[in-house]
Amino acid sequence: MQRQRRRDTGPELGIRRRLHGLGFRYRVDHRLEPGLRVRGDIVFTRRKVVIFIDGCFWHGCPEHATTPKNNAEWWRKKLDDNVERDH
Ligand SMILES: [Zn+2]
Repeated sequence: MQRQRRRDTGPELGIRRRLHGLGFRYRVDHRLEPGLRVRGDIVFTRRKVVIFIDGCFWHGCPEHATTPKNNAEWWRKKLDDNVERDH
């Protein structure tokens, strides 16, 4: 299985580069509140704006998601839990 990045994916880097070029400053992979599991991919803390860039693998995209063959059972549970958390 090709290693799947949790952060700093191609789409994230592209969007961050553009935002940075436009002069925006933000936090990356930032926990929204202490104790909360959810982390924002790009977070503007003062403006209270969060951007989530949901990759196809981790978020179970119906069109592009793949399931690893090794440890298939564990991965299915893990990825199903992600989808549930996202909802
Ligand atoms: Zn997709």
